[in-house]
Amino acid sequence: MTRTGRPPRHHVSVRDTFGRGVVLTGIRIGGARAVLLACDCGPDVLYAARVTDLVSGRVVSCGHCRHPERMAGRAARRDEAARRAAEAVAENAAREAAGAVLAAHGFRVTRAIQLERL
Ligand SMILES: [Zn+2]
Repeated sequence: MTRTGRPPRHHVSVRDTFGRGVVLTGIRIGGARAVLLACDCGPDVLYAARVTDLVSGRVVSCGHCRHPERMAGRAARRDEAARRAAEAVAENAAREAAGAVLAAHGFRVTRAIQLERL
């Protein structure tokens, strides 16, 4: 325990990296020791973080870079699922229509109709 009862000071230097950020300079946020960092997600993406948040791992990036990727992946999966669902509906409808035409001409469908997209 230190004399003042404060947690130990973490030494942070310019060019230290924390997650995706690299330290540019020291600053203060509300009186707390902090640094300005450049995020590796873009050439001009800067952000500020308290030293304690960096050391604890609470802040690992500018906070914006991970989300667009995640949202893009989620949107792509959602679109793919929607496309497959539409395909399945179209396939079932085509199979039913084909079965109805065959039945109208007196054919009995004994096997699942194989569909081929023209
Ligand atoms: Zn970033």
